Amino acid sequence: MPHIKAYAAQSARDRLELVRIERREPRPDDVSIDIKFCGICHSDIHQARDGWGGAIFPMVPGHEIVGIVSAVGAEVSTFKVGDRVGVGCFVDGGASIGACGREHEHYHLDTLVMTYNGYEHDKRTPTYGGYSQAITVKQDYVLRIPDNLPLDAAAPLLCAGITLYSPLAHWQAGPGKKVAIIGLGGLGHVGVKIAHAMGAHVTVLSQSVAKKAEGQRLGADDYRATSDPETFTALAGTFDLIVNTVSAPVDWNALVGLLKIDGTMVQVGVPEEPVPVNAFALIAGRRRLAGSLIGSIPETQEMLEFCSRHGITADIEVIPMADVNAAFERVIRSDVRFRFVIDLSSLDSMSA
Ligand code: NAP
Ligand code: ZN
Repeated sequence: MPHIKAYAAQSARDRLELVRIERREPRPDDVSIDIKFCGICHSDIHQARDGWGGAIFPMVPGHEIVGIVSAVGAEVSTFKVGDRVGVGCFVDGGASIGACGREHEHYHLDTLVMTYNGYEHDKRTPTYGGYSQAITVKQDYVLRIPDNLPLDAAAPLLCAGITLYSPLAHWQAGPGKKVAIIGLGGLGHVGVKIAHAMGAHVTVLSQSVAKKAEGQRLGADDYRATSDPETFTALAGTFDLIVNTVSAPVDWNALVGLLKIDGTMVQVGVPEEPVPVNAFALIAGRRRLAGSLIGSIPETQEMLEFCSRHGITADIEVIPMADVNAAFERVIRSDVRFRFVIDLSSLDSMSA
């Protein structure tokens, strides 16, 4: 495949700018995809600014990718040209999955090939993400987008959707369960929709009640401000499950105190600093603090089918690529309802 257009950061201090990158010709088990839309995940910003360390530049972010199959390798049987498909946070793995099978593949970070800010198995070829016109991916790492989900609003399901679906399913959010979602952002708003569709009683814990009406529209039964001390007295010992999507510093001990006996708080936001947790907050209630990373390919397909059945997509603001740097700043200010999605056709007319 010839060189294609993409947006890349050259260093942690640089804005993203137009570049040309090369994608490989499809191998026998590859699927080539014309990218139509790509969501902007807060992880794109952490990584483009090297907030977690070890960033690889130049970096083309983007792991909420949807598009149309443009070519398939000779051995590809599951996809054909014209199919609606998605790619999430990883594009290869497998080497050490062993007895775990594909269910735990994404937890074998030693062999996982991230969609961007990573290297292929050869440890030399950098991976480039979805802020680009096209991508070529092994068929086993390509998802099928259900026909009733619009491509643009489905894009954020590839990361935000699975990142919330996986812990909600694992810890059995459902009827009779009280679930809190901390942070009504890209991840959080999809989490509210999914937890509501699973039948749980859903509370949003936000910095303020400014987005209360929107939270209720998304499916929240209750909506409280973490800036209000009354929230922590009124809701103490209430929740079976709390999913924290926030990466900024929060009062972890106060939040853990909102769990019931045997309740679980699952961290999915990725702070750039270590988190201070007082052991007593856990001991006083046999509470659990857990983490969860995206989800497997089979679980991501399961999530897409769940969203198809329940008519769930993200609430999005579609932008041209030229607005991506401004969009990063707005995500940092939590000034987006609730996910930016880049329209990749906007790259077609751009020239370096
Ligand atoms: P986002 O859209 O920016 O949402 C984060 C939310 O956190 C904001 O909407 C805001 O909600 C809240 N928040 C922001 N600043 C805050 C502050 N100073 N104090 C308290 N709350 C604050 O980000 P996202 O795309 O949902 O991603 C969230 C985090 O998850 C990021 O760290 C990302 O890297 C991580 N992530 C993890 C996984 C995983 O597999 N574990 C996957 C994807 C992303 P309110 O306005 O409602 O307070
Ligand atoms: Zn993400």
